[in-house]
Amino acid sequence: MKKTKHPKYGRILLKLSGEALGGEAGASISPEAVRSMALQIREVRELGVQVVVVVGGGNIFRGLPGSERGIERATGDYMGMLATVINALALQDALEKLGVATRVQSAITMAQVAEPFIRRRAVRHLEKGRVVIFGGGTGNPYFSTDTAAALRATEIGAEVILKATKVDGIYDCDPKKNAAAKRFSQIKYLDALQKQLKVMDSTAFSLCMDNKMPIIVFDLFRPHNLKRVVMGEKVGTLVS
Ligand code: UDP
Repeated sequence: MKKTKHPKYGRILLKLSGEALGGEAGASISPEAVRSMALQIREVRELGVQVVVVVGGGNIFRGLPGSERGIERATGDYMGMLATVINALALQDALEKLGVATRVQSAITMAQVAEPFIRRRAVRHLEKGRVVIFGGGTGNPYFSTDTAAALRATEIGAEVILKATKVDGIYDCDPKKNAAAKRFSQIKYLDALQKQLKVMDSTAFSLCMDNKMPIIVFDLFRPHNLKRVVMGEKVGTLVS
């Protein structure tokens, strides 16, 4: 009798950068891009995997470049956090159109559009099979949505952070600039630090390292890649 394969993970946190939801060059919101991300999420939901998504906002606004152009840093960061809520709503819309039940929780209270972030409630949604989308980052300026991902993954007991990027993992140098760049299939936190490989910003990365939260960096622009990761195939780079 053929044995059916089970997913490797029961509860995952997917970190989607704003860029993944943007159109050409990652700017603004592309309904087609959002839909293709939603399709991949539905695929893993259908396997019974509990899914949390932390969305970025870089396709709309980032605080640091904003501050270089004259907007006060903290204000710019709040603008960036609001941008992540816009992305969260776009993803929610795409998922619900595909028949996937979702809830958006925001770290910045916005009662009309999203639930406030309440950890126990988020876990309950997951248990009921809903995809929980976290918007608003950590709710604090000077942080990133990668930090929000590291924090929330630990809080809600995710087994892994799946960081979606445009490249298929972590390389020893930029694969776009150097054809001889070598991809790691696996790397230890300390080695990634020593080699100064940019997996996440340092706050997010140390939070993962301190809490032994594994990170898989992979290419979500390839169809079915999320499912492959969840099924335990060797896709991308595992940092652990
Ligand atoms: N941001 C913040 N605190 C957080 C998360 C995000 O201030 O906890 C702001 C910050 O300005 C950031 C912007 O929101 O530049 C968008 O988030 P991020 O750059 O992490 O998005 P991504 O690169 O994933 O699209």
